[in-house]
Amino acid sequence: MQKKNIALVAHDNKKDDLLNWISTNNQLLSRHQLYATGTTGKLIFENLGMPVTRYKSGPLGGDQQIGAAIANQEIDFLIFFWDPLQALSHDTDIKALLRIAVVWNIPIACNRASADYLISSPLIESSYQRDVPNYDNYLARDLSK
Ligand code: PGA
Repeated sequence: MQKKNIALVAHDNKKDDLLNWISTNNQLLSRHQLYATGTTGKLIFENLGMPVTRYKSGPLGGDQQIGAAIANQEIDFLIFFWDPLQALSHDTDIKALLRIAVVWNIPIACNRASADYLISSPLIESSYQRDVPNYDNYLARDLSK
């Protein structure tokens, strides 16, 4: 089995949903390495007793830290229960996190049904080699014109 690095983030109105989902999938998730934004991680540890590496709280830089970890190829997939019914102060960070996950071809689940599909994939416990996009052409683009 290949241990995966799983990033978990939930907005306030979605935290119960995420905790519930983690609790349901507790056995499988405990075989992997969990990372989370500050408050989400605190709740996971306090309510479920699961070890989780915590970044800063999302609005205080945690979303960007997870984005940086993705860019450094340190995260295998992202479970991000964002709130579609509330405007949040750190909207730009939320967009940036979703964007960087797409840039690096990281699987993302933004609601429980997607998370269920993702976690029931046989690829979760296999040695799946994600295709890491090659941006050499982008980096070598001609800026002299
Ligand atoms: P939090 O951050 O886990 O610290 O509440 C979540 C978010 O990105 O809003």
